[in-house]
Amino acid sequence: MIQIDALPAFTDNYLWLLQDTASRRCAVVDPGDATPVLNWLEAHPGWILTDILVTHHHFDHVGGVEALKQATGARVFGPARESIPGRDQALLDGVRLEVLGQAFDVLEVPGHTLGHIAYYQAEHGWLFCGDTLFAGGCGRLFEGTPAQMHQSLQRLAYLPESTRVYCTHEYTLSNLRFAQAVEPGNGFIARRLSQVAEWRAAGRISLPSTLALEKASNPFLRCDEPEVREKIDEREGVQQRSPAEVFARLRAWKDQF
Ligand code: ZN
Ligand code: FE
Repeated sequence: MIQIDALPAFTDNYLWLLQDTASRRCAVVDPGDATPVLNWLEAHPGWILTDILVTHHHFDHVGGVEALKQATGARVFGPARESIPGRDQALLDGVRLEVLGQAFDVLEVPGHTLGHIAYYQAEHGWLFCGDTLFAGGCGRLFEGTPAQMHQSLQRLAYLPESTRVYCTHEYTLSNLRFAQAVEPGNGFIARRLSQVAEWRAAGRISLPSTLALEKASNPFLRCDEPEVREKIDEREGVQQRSPAEVFARLRAWKDQF
């Protein structure tokens, strides 16, 4: 059995730690800082870190990779189209890898960065999507175009609704506040917002999410909903907009929200 826990890092990052309890081997996704992982290993004698999965090249995702690799000898997987410190295997779209006895498929999801990848485990329905899809929101466009990000999110949205979304940041509350500004009449968003506010007040993590939840409350996955398009039209003057254009306007609005 694989257990998945979040190790907090920096102010709002989570390093996802996958633990194979039978073999006492573990893997980590996006270790921006080595310390939380090294502390965990020290507190769990007999466990071995075997694999490091990286989604993209930003420092808060790769900052701890080399120290962890040096300390543990773990294999480092990362996107082929970006430079990743200590990378042993460069991954392209469609590649399948095996980590802790589980098959993971690589999806290229450019937008936040140009080479960004996500790791999808189909059997269990786990999606490690870095800074592409967030709970209630999506990553900023540092390198890609709105059209690229929109397409990447659409691709993730085609995965089964029960897919659990393990993104890298605890941005859910502020994302849902924006979602509510986009769709003030959406009761599902209002309920999710108050639930997440309660969790955060109690110091609880808001992740993982699911694709079903995201499709119901994440405006960036709802660009073809009339309410979302009408809100953008109302802000900017009525036009007939494609979902990709709605996405671009939403992302620009969120940048200043
Ligand atoms: Zn990033
Ligand atoms: Fe990040």
